[in-house]
Amino acid sequence: MDIRKVFVVGSGLMGSGIAQVCAQSGLDVVLYDIDPEALRKALKSIEWSVGKFVEKGELKEEKSVIMSRIKTVSDFTDAATCELMIEAVFENLELKKEIFEKIEAIAPVEALMASNTSSIPISEIAVATKKPGRVLGLHFFSPVPMMQAVEVIRGHSTSGETMIKGRELVIRIGKEPIMVNRDVAGFVINRINFPSSMEAMRLVEEGITTVEDIDKGLRLASGRRMGIFETSDMVGLDVTYGALMSMYKETGDPRWFPPMILRRKVKSGELGRKTGKGWYEYDKEGRIKKVTSDKRAVTSDE
Ligand code: NAD
Repeated sequence: MDIRKVFVVGSGLMGSGIAQVCAQSGLDVVLYDIDPEALRKALKSIEWSVGKFVEKGELKEEKSVIMSRIKTVSDFTDAATCELMIEAVFENLELKKEIFEKIEAIAPVEALMASNTSSIPISEIAVATKKPGRVLGLHFFSPVPMMQAVEVIRGHSTSGETMIKGRELVIRIGKEPIMVNRDVAGFVINRINFPSSMEAMRLVEEGITTVEDIDKGLRLASGRRMGIFETSDMVGLDVTYGALMSMYKETGDPRWFPPMILRRKVKSGELGRKTGKGWYEYDKEGRIKKVTSDKRAVTSDE
């Protein structure tokens, strides 16, 4: 079964990016969200982003042609005609299971069902379905239109055929598949990236240096385009916190327990760009206003 039409569930930061890259590569997309305002915002941001790619000459088609492939909906009816479902709702196991159960009842029997979860085991989501062999993880990275890697994750019951089709789909949409052959907490890329992000948070927490200096240092010394804290603000501090808690609960390993500074920020509602304040503060246009971290590292005489 060739994949021609994709049903994307959740139109937030990730779902909108996934819808965009699928439409850019010629696939028809049905974008669903429970919140009509989220759908409206998603279309606006996709249109803006596609426009930028067209302006730079990076896309061959007109913006209107790409946008015409995306349909927004407020129910699951169209899932009946899609060959792939990609779920990108909040990082909540019960919610994801509910979506998989509902979509399976409507989707064609051969359709693939993927989750973009950062940290919930694919096998636990697949339990909600009758055919877990067709459930896999397709883990995109933010910002989706820019980031080339997509982890293709094998759950406990995912079939080999599903993994092959998942890999082909990733290549079809112009991305690079990173094959993850076992359903381990954090998969591969986060398992490598999270320890350095947590170390950066602890360095700030201990007053050793600042958010700004760590980001500057990483840009200049490690060739990163964005610092760890800029990335964290874009991803959402709550998303990172949720992923770490999920890895901690799954493994019982204390190394994944979120640093105190992250826990405090999340509990205070400082979630990053989406709330206007996280590691940095943002103005209405989304530009960094000022650093919110403790600057004692440079002012103390201790
Ligand atoms: P988000 O908060 O930006 O978007 C989530 C969307 O899901 C919202 O628009 C919300 O209205 C919608 N939603 C909630 N309940 C729903 C329901 N019952 N039916 C349909 N839509 C519903 O979140 P996000 O950052 O896009 O993350 C989505 C998923 O992707 C999470 O599982 C997250 O762990 C994962 N992920 C996030 C990132 C990141 O950088 N933010 C990276 C990789 C993976």
